[in-house]
Amino acid sequence: MSAKILDGKQLALQIRSEIAERVQAFRQSTGIAPCLAAILVGDDAGSQVYVRNKELACAKAGMESRLFRMPGTTSTAELLELLDRLNADPMIHGILVQLPLPRQIDERLRPRYLPCTPHGVLQLLHRSGIALTGAEVVVVGRSDIVGKPLVSMCLQKLGPCGASNANATVTCCHSQTKDLGSVTRRADILIVAIGRPRAITADMVKPGAVVIDVGINREGDAIVGDVDFEAVSAIAGAITPVPGGIGPLTIAMLLENTLTAAKFAADV
Ligand code: NDP
Repeated sequence: MSAKILDGKQLALQIRSEIAERVQAFRQSTGIAPCLAAILVGDDAGSQVYVRNKELACAKAGMESRLFRMPGTTSTAELLELLDRLNADPMIHGILVQLPLPRQIDERLRPRYLPCTPHGVLQLLHRSGIALTGAEVVVVGRSDIVGKPLVSMCLQKLGPCGASNANATVTCCHSQTKDLGSVTRRADILIVAIGRPRAITADMVKPGAVVIDVGINREGDAIVGDVDFEAVSAIAGAITPVPGGIGPLTIAMLLENTLTAAKFAADV
């Protein structure tokens, strides 16, 4: 039996034609033409073609596009200055920085504000001397505020505290994961954010593992985590308590973000 061909070209044409109809309706009702700014740094031959194709695609969809060419000697600061200007321009709706960029430009510029709880987890690991590089990290929970950002932050090449605060091999589990224990037992670093009191039991943890319990659950007057602290602390190499673990770090990172915002507003 030969495989069914999943034809991306035909599908893209169909989607682009649907978008063109929606653009037309949008322009008629608002008088605004969606506009994409493309930034091309240097003279990479492939990039010239890709950017040209994107400009043509915009035109066919009834969108506008503007091309900003910068020399191959452009610095990171100069590129950021242009990005700031385009971000502030109400007539620009999308910005494409065509990759690859010349070597002197840092493509891995990190966001200015990091989500507080995931950042707190990474700060705690770093300041406790626990490196992520090459470690098998299992994140249990995939919420937008904790699980998902943690996964991408552990995966990136440069973390908030440097390269050793990143570069993990990451697995993410959730309520539909089959045989959760067989996955969590693989973890050198197990991070749990599910909101289920004491759901992670000792048999689900590899002896010596680092266990980060993000969960905060109320049980009567008591606050407990997602990890069975008593049993797991007997076999883990390190563990965060609840309360007194990630919660206070989340607040510390909120203060960090507020100070960063104030410095940005004061332009210092
Ligand atoms: P959400 O309820 O948004 O997400 C919970 C996640 O856990 C979901 O992805 C869900 O899977 C998964 N999940 C639920 N039950 C199980 C299970 N039995 N096995 C495996 N996965 C499961 O929670 P949040 O991320 O917002 O919060 C999680 C916990 O962390 C809560 O206790 C919360 O109070 C605490 N928290 C603590 C903070 C702190 O500062 N320490 C900050 C933020 C949250 P699915 O997606 O499939 O539904």
